[in-house]
Amino acid sequence: MNIDSIRNGFVIDHIPAGLGMRLYQLLGLDTLDCSVALIRNVGSKKLGKKDIIKIDAAIAINFDLIGYVSPDVTVNIIRDGQLVEKKAIALPKEITGVIRCKNPRCITSTEQELAHRFKLTDPEQHIYRCIYCETKASYDE
Ligand code: ZN
Repeated sequence: MNIDSIRNGFVIDHIPAGLGMRLYQLLGLDTLDCSVALIRNVGSKKLGKKDIIKIDAAIAINFDLIGYVSPDVTVNIIRDGQLVEKKAIALPKEITGVIRCKNPRCITSTEQELAHRFKLTDPEQHIYRCIYCETKASYDE
């Protein structure tokens, strides 16, 4: 793929089609001033169709969050116009402080200073549950 336009930044590749926007929102890319491109439904030999996100800035990226959305994603790290690393993403064992527990009776809704933490409980099904109340995490809402 063409990475010529990026000097220092990232190309987040092999995002399953349809999840690009979700990842874009979860990573907070809509709040950045740098140029960010979300390219949807790109033809892919491996996935059929995929989404790609290009970020033209060396920002801090939450790789756990990417793994949470999809462990199939690869992150290409670009420095001075060169591909310096192709980072494979794994399913994180735990996610802290990003997704929020939706259970109104969960201790995290009364104890505001408590970090929202989710543990991977089913690697096959890719299911995360709140460590306090075991409510299933969902990034669809
Ligand atoms: Zn909870």
